[in-house]
Amino acid sequence: LVPRLRPFTSTIFAEMTALAVRTEAINLGQGFPDTDGPEGMLDAAKDALYGGANQYPPGPGRPELRAAVARHRARYGLDYDPDTEVLVTAGATEAITAAVLALTEPGDEVIVIEPYYDSYPAAVAMAGATRRVVPLVAGQDGRFVLDIAALRSAITPATRAILVNSPHNPTGTVLSDVELAAIADLCVKNDIIAIADEVYEHLVYDEAAHHPLATFPGMRERTVSISSAGKTFNCTGWKIGWVCSTPELVSAVKAAKQFITFVSGGPLQPAVAHALDHELPWVNGLRDSLSAKRDRLSAGLAEAGFTVHPSLGTYFVCADVRPLGYADATELAWQLPERAGVVAVPVSVFTDHPDEWKHLLRFAFCKRDEVLDEAVARLHKLR
Ligand code: PMP
Ligand code: GLN
Repeated sequence: LVPRLRPFTSTIFAEMTALAVRTEAINLGQGFPDTDGPEGMLDAAKDALYGGANQYPPGPGRPELRAAVARHRARYGLDYDPDTEVLVTAGATEAITAAVLALTEPGDEVIVIEPYYDSYPAAVAMAGATRRVVPLVAGQDGRFVLDIAALRSAITPATRAILVNSPHNPTGTVLSDVELAAIADLCVKNDIIAIADEVYEHLVYDEAAHHPLATFPGMRERTVSISSAGKTFNCTGWKIGWVCSTPELVSAVKAAKQFITFVSGGPLQPAVAHALDHELPWVNGLRDSLSAKRDRLSAGLAEAGFTVHPSLGTYFVCADVRPLGYADATELAWQLPERAGVVAVPVSVFTDHPDEWKHLLRFAFCKRDEVLDEAVARLHKLR
């Protein structure tokens, strides 16, 4: 293995899911739901499977899906031409990697917000570019906020792109309009491309709202917006994602994408098109249910003795283990199955500064209520 990929030999999600299977622990590690998506979408997939949609779809994606993606973006007031400004990918993961490969090269710097989604540093390494991390910091109410001064000082003449994920995995924070406007302003002033990972766009709770970065002044033409069906429609295994941007940026991403997978998920693409057009009421129900699960797990963790950071979006909540008498959550994560029969992910693995983040565990709440309740009952044993 080449040196630049040596830090990336296994993903924390694969490791944690293997640990859960081996120890028969409850898996609140890897974020995936334990129920299926809307029936209309599953029926549409079945119809497509039996209806002859089993050969290569067109390179940019099936036209009905590109049209549905464009209609969906229009809900935010963003107009994209489905023929030149939308590209279907093998999940958001491929979209992110293809965007980084297409837009950065050795000598370029890419800003990544810490804690970061695990594939970001790997994508930057594959491109041979250099990552610069800018931290989120816990505010007074425990919500994680962007250190804008740190962002400003991380920008250099070599900065080519910034990866922005909101709603944010792993913290569950949703960037405010003030934070997004500050990012937008710095991108415009310094000619930086934003790669906006919005896979949790529909999973926002309470007073939080998702405002795509591309809606901010000057950003439509410099943002590669990325989303996927997995989180919105409970189908993380389908790996249908998409990119929306200018014709130039979409062509660039396509140049990389076509030699990574070429195409994927032929019969699933029409089903996702159906879901985007017809199943958003189902998604509203999903969001309400996840918001209640977020409350349920957060309260349970607090009762079990953790200090819980507020989560306003995603599948995840972060909890501080120090009040339970543990100094190191990274160590505790590996012992958690044995001590409590539960798996969670140490937040330190999503950072370049493991010592500063070593007190936090990430728990996934996208599970049936009885699973969450059993996990909480077991976690009471930690005290
Ligand atoms: N970005 C973030 C922030 C994620 O949490 C995930 C995991 N679902 C992805 C990207 C990858 O999405 P996909 O499964 O569509 O590749
Ligand atoms: N996005 C999911 C998580 O953060 C996992 C995806 C994966 O396993 N690569 O848990």
